[in-house]
Amino acid sequence: MSNEKKPAGFSTLAVHAGIEPDASTGAIMTPVYMTSTYVQEGIGKHKGYEYSRSSNPTRDALEAALAALEGGKHGLAFSSGLAAIDAVLMTLKPGDEVIAGDDLYGGTRRLFSTHYAPLGIQFHFVDTQNAANVSAHLNERTRLVWLETPTNPLLRISDISAIASILNGHPARLAVDNTFATPALQNPLIQGADIVMHSVTKYLGGHSDVVMGALMSKEDAVDAELRTIQNNVGAIPGPMDCFLVLRGIKTLGIRVRQHCENGRNVANWLKANPKVDKVYWPGFDSFPNHDVASRQMKDFGGMISFTLADDSLAASRKVCESTKIFALAESLGGVESLIEHPALMTHASVPAEQRAALGINDSLIRLSCGIEDTEDLIADLAQAIDA
Ligand SMILES: *Cc1c(COP(=O)(O)O)cnc(C)c1O
Repeated sequence: MSNEKKPAGFSTLAVHAGIEPDASTGAIMTPVYMTSTYVQEGIGKHKGYEYSRSSNPTRDALEAALAALEGGKHGLAFSSGLAAIDAVLMTLKPGDEVIAGDDLYGGTRRLFSTHYAPLGIQFHFVDTQNAANVSAHLNERTRLVWLETPTNPLLRISDISAIASILNGHPARLAVDNTFATPALQNPLIQGADIVMHSVTKYLGGHSDVVMGALMSKEDAVDAELRTIQNNVGAIPGPMDCFLVLRGIKTLGIRVRQHCENGRNVANWLKANPKVDKVYWPGFDSFPNHDVASRQMKDFGGMISFTLADDSLAASRKVCESTKIFALAESLGGVESLIEHPALMTHASVPAEQRAALGINDSLIRLSCGIEDTEDLIADLAQAIDA
């Protein structure tokens, strides 16, 4: 399904984009079309649907909503964020080169290195906080630049429009994993990216009840290539999951406002706590590329990482295991606050020496601030850190 440029404010769009009253009943909510196939009136004579791997009306409504939220023209839903990333990688051929950030979601890097590098695709992992590091590795074989901003877990910021302009006139496509920022805060397609990727599992779904991924794009040729892969591979979400995400998206604007409010208050509280050493949150004036974040994001989100003044593994483990509202769990972006230990949990697959080089040390703790009351979140962290 396609959608033209953003016509309305974000929350209006989040409530209405892609949704049409059901043609046969007027139902305001998109029905869950639990069907694998569609009866044809005659051979090849149908209502636009033949088989649900190729398309399904509930998924179509979601894909139109996803495209609209990113200010794109096309949206594609996948069975997970990694399935969406895999579809982008499948556009490459042996001999092609990829420039990717060096502080990526652990699973993204594992997919690149374990499955695509052995096929003869060369990856350059560089610090994309400095756009010049992208220019330095760009050559005639480069076909893809893969960015995350803010990154997971260090919240590093890269300048999307500066990197897009480096690629101007070059055949390499710019893909941005926008999972952390959400379309409520940052729209990479509008800033020059060719493809936006989301782990819909996180903020878009928002309720920790679905695993899903998405790709949004603005050019017909890019969409056609990715849509062919979506259909040929078949890593598609089911209609019930599409319905749950359509429902989740309706509150994205208002949820993200509360995630940001809690993020700001918790970050400032941590910064003022003498038992805390470093706080990683792009809203601080002193944070690297804070000016870029202020320009390309509407607010700074609810993700925060921090280290303790006592930098022992025992101390950070104790904090992670002592919170009562922040649940100890991987994942992020849901209504409930989560706490986790990247070195031992989400980023355990990243080699230790590389974790050390990036600053993902044994003291680092990551928070996903949910939408609970700020005072309760701060009281919970206070009892865990002061314990
Ligand atoms: C979770 C996540 C992914 C992977 O998505 P899944 O839905 O778990 O497959 C990719 N990128 C980022 C930034 C993530 O947080």
